[in-house]
Amino acid sequence: MGVFNTIKTDEKCPNCHQPVEWQSKRLIYDGIIVGNLMQALTLNKRMDGEMHAYCDACETWFDATIEKGKVVTIKPSNPIRRLQR
Ligand SMILES: [Zn+2]
Repeated sequence: MGVFNTIKTDEKCPNCHQPVEWQSKRLIYDGIIVGNLMQALTLNKRMDGEMHAYCDACETWFDATIEKGKVVTIKPSNPIRRLQR
């Protein structure tokens, strides 16, 4: 998958609530793009951007949008596998 940063967050899979590992290739800290150095970063209110996770349990990729360190949207990236309600 190349180089990215890992995001330290308790955010779980929105589908089945399993713990997942979040990664980001696009994070902005204080208006500056954060380099992708495979660091483990904790979200804080100076961060914006996006992060992604793959859930092994329900085989779904998720994209999350981050604004001011908070997750504002999470949606499946694969249009074939929608959230089941
Ligand atoms: Zn899941």
